[in-house]
Amino acid sequence: MTADKLAFITDDVAALKDQGLFINIRTIQSAQGPWTVVDGKRVLNLCTNNYLGLANHPRLKEAAAKAIEAYGVGPAAVRSIAGTMDLHLQFEERMARFKGAEGVISFQSGFCANLAVIPVLVGKEDGVFSDELNHASIIDGCRLSGARIERFAHCSPEDLARVLEEKRGQYRRALVITDGVFSMDGDVAPLDQEYEIAERCGCLFMVDDAHGEGVMGRGGRGIADHFHLHGKVDVEVGTLSKAFGVMGGVVAGKKLITDYLRQRARPFLFSSAATPADVAACIAAIDVLEESTDLVDRLWENTRTFKAEMVRLGFNTGQSVTPITPVMLGEAPLAKEFSRQLFEEGVFAMALGFPTVPRGKARIRVMISAGLAQSDLEFGLAAFERVGRRLGVI
Ligand SMILES: *Cc1c(COP(=O)(O)O)cnc(C)c1O
Repeated sequence: MTADKLAFITDDVAALKDQGLFINIRTIQSAQGPWTVVDGKRVLNLCTNNYLGLANHPRLKEAAAKAIEAYGVGPAAVRSIAGTMDLHLQFEERMARFKGAEGVISFQSGFCANLAVIPVLVGKEDGVFSDELNHASIIDGCRLSGARIERFAHCSPEDLARVLEEKRGQYRRALVITDGVFSMDGDVAPLDQEYEIAERCGCLFMVDDAHGEGVMGRGGRGIADHFHLHGKVDVEVGTLSKAFGVMGGVVAGKKLITDYLRQRARPFLFSSAATPADVAACIAAIDVLEESTDLVDRLWENTRTFKAEMVRLGFNTGQSVTPITPVMLGEAPLAKEFSRQLFEEGVFAMALGFPTVPRGKARIRVMISAGLAQSDLEFGLAAFERVGRRLGVI
């Protein structure tokens, strides 16, 4: 008799369930919006990355539909092998201009952009100096590169300087990487100080601005714009899947690098491009953002209102300085129960536990959107207050 070769899976799933870490995925049955149909119920949506409400914006939908008419549904090619559509080049030029970057290259997703760029910049003889809370896709990009990963304390320029001092000499090249906005806590890297330190040591400097694209900077131009680091940051990774409301990733930065990625980045060379509809919708998103800062302003206004009220109610919203609003609850089972009761109250806000956040730091993560009306915010706050009292959190 042979042992059950899949037992490791059933064992692990049982362990996840035991620890309250098994993920139950809800089903979305409508377009994304402030109110969304989830598992058959119309609920206030407080957990998507649709910061500006662009995921269901009429201008983006119209652009996508027109692109399908003109270009069809698929790119039918890896760009370097069978030609790139002019649409992709047009998007890259528009995005570079919008962000004030020398060059932009687009990828299929933000995750993909990290896997693409890091192994091109560093290899086995090199070191990556990485914030200890960096996103999984940065960590995977670093692993793929074969470079040694040296971690520095979260958002600490002092610790970055210390680790560089101690370890920089061991490596041929060094790359400093940080998230811009940290997705689980909503805090922001001290990018100007970390850049200065990296520059002094002759290190490459990269920021992953997934949650800052369309949110931070003038009219959503991103974190390099926020810190006035145009032309200084070597690589700024962004996503089009969050505030931009579509799907895709970008690398913006020095043109020497973005052009080189067209020769060397494996997800560019071995995987098909984004669809015409996606790319056209992203161009329309840039149109919307360039025409007016209304959506971005509204997002920040809603953020200020919601956070101030949550703190007044007695919730701990951690270190956030962005629309990402963690509601710290501690243990994963409490966070899950909180989320379940919110859903009964008509509010969709998911609990996050290990490994997405460290053990013992489970939370509900509220994502504020420009699309929320004052009455929506009040509805959400009232539900948080009722559930918070019922579960003894406030
Ligand atoms: C969401 C996220 C990504 C992945 O972006 P996708 O476009 O969804 O693949 C990468 N990095 C960070 C920091 C993120 O928060």
